[in-house]
Amino acid sequence: MTRAENEILDKAISGRRLDTDEGLALLESHNLAALGRAADAVTRRLHPEPLRTYNIDRNINYTNVCVSGCRFCAFSRKMGDADAYVIQPDELHRKIEETIALGGNQILLQGECTQN
Ligand code: SF4
Repeated sequence: MTRAENEILDKAISGRRLDTDEGLALLESHNLAALGRAADAVTRRLHPEPLRTYNIDRNINYTNVCVSGCRFCAFSRKMGDADAYVIQPDELHRKIEETIALGGNQILLQGECTQN
């Protein structure tokens, strides 16, 4: 980290708002460890109590059929592809029950557009 980047992190840690250029400088610094330490410092400032909470959730992809065509995507299939799928309601229910049995309390149903 440069001195300027450290000053930006100190600003963020203290709770002052960063401007666009400062945010971009941190993004381009590629110093994930320093960003992580700063994020942890902010978290501890905002939530000093010695505990953190979490929930158990599951993302259920009910289909892999998608028409969006994002170039980075290795997940989507076109309708009619041999490995395209849309899960049936009983499978959806089974996945939800599995999640509940593991103590889960949140489901994200994630699917893609099948219409233009
Ligand atoms: S599944 Fe998501 S990432 Fe992939 S092409 Fe569709 S919208 Fe894009």
